[in-house]
Amino acid sequence: MEQFSEWVRAAEAGRDELISLRRAIHARPELGLQCPMTREKLEAAIADLPLTILRSDSTSGLVASLEGARPGRTVLLRGDMDALPIHEDTGLDFASREAGKMHACGHDSHSAMLASAARILCGRQAELAGRILFMFQPGEEGFHGGRIMLEEGLLGDPLPDAAFALHIWPTLPHGTVACRAGAMLASTDTVKARIIGKGGHAAMPHDAVDPIPAAAEVVLALQVEVARRTPVADPMVLSITCINAGTAHNVLPDAVELGGTLRTLSPEGRARGRELFERVCTHVAAAHGCRAEVAIDPGYPPTINDPRAVALVRQIAGDDFHELPSSNMGGEDFSYVLEKVPGAMAFLGVAPEGSDPATRAPLHNPAMMIDEAVLPKGVALHCAFATRFLERGWE
Ligand SMILES: [Zn+2]
Ligand SMILES: [Zn+2]
Repeated sequence: MEQFSEWVRAAEAGRDELISLRRAIHARPELGLQCPMTREKLEAAIADLPLTILRSDSTSGLVASLEGARPGRTVLLRGDMDALPIHEDTGLDFASREAGKMHACGHDSHSAMLASAARILCGRQAELAGRILFMFQPGEEGFHGGRIMLEEGLLGDPLPDAAFALHIWPTLPHGTVACRAGAMLASTDTVKARIIGKGGHAAMPHDAVDPIPAAAEVVLALQVEVARRTPVADPMVLSITCINAGTAHNVLPDAVELGGTLRTLSPEGRARGRELFERVCTHVAAAHGCRAEVAIDPGYPPTINDPRAVALVRQIAGDDFHELPSSNMGGEDFSYVLEKVPGAMAFLGVAPEGSDPATRAPLHNPAMMIDEAVLPKGVALHCAFATRFLERGWE
């Protein structure tokens, strides 16, 4: 089919619609699995297209399916929809009108780019062999929206043959397409421990079992253990981010609560991290005469890109391709799709042209901004990923 430059031209032709949809979504951010206003805007944007729409039962997600003129492979393109509980501080005239909610992760642009790609690809329906699924997904920011949509069967049976997603990246240069084979992003389990001793008078600690020094040693021992037990080629980050205990300066508490996040890049690393956390909490607490109750809330699996999909992204992006030298320890629930379907997530640099990307506000920051001039390129990438795969598979 088309050269990449032709997809860019088609995307540029729809630029006004793209930007106004993105800004409309940006001004009315919604959190979690229920994003009804966002879904309404997206459905309106694609209402006149020859798409079959499947709505998620328990979320505001939807999958729009485009059937090519001839049978063939199935490819999935994904855009997420939800925002963050952050008060926006950009000063933009289309800034959030919902207090305490902001599209600080760029999901407004992801879903708008996907809607534009759907319009362009529907215009090529007669030339297409195969099926394209457009997955509009809420609940990425910790709510497992991707997993729920998979479990609801919205991605089809059999599952698609390939899947692609883009994530805008404000600290990468304008128009860069950054990707890597293998682990792109980390698993994101939440770890919790309650170190239980016996409270008492702070002046008579020998009559109590003070959980505070035990908890302090647990925190340090965890860092030592991570450093000594983690293979350098399969990194792990364990951050204890909450310590809660105590009510008064002269009272020893009964217990200390610890909480944090465990980030790993492989199923093996994830199992190693969970085992390590439980073992260190339990035994260091026991050494102090305390006991530990440990809980691990499973987060997202690591996001693993298929090398064939990364090769396809590289071919299409050409000179704009940037091979990421290392994984990022953030997480993504597109990982659930990539556990089952070969594919890739790529980052799209949205720093303004000529700016120093390192000075830009990062994702999840109240001042995060996107150079919208890059967005048509994201639309073109979606179109090219899908059609290249439908035409030639992993060749
Ligand atoms: Zn995010
Ligand atoms: Zn995101």
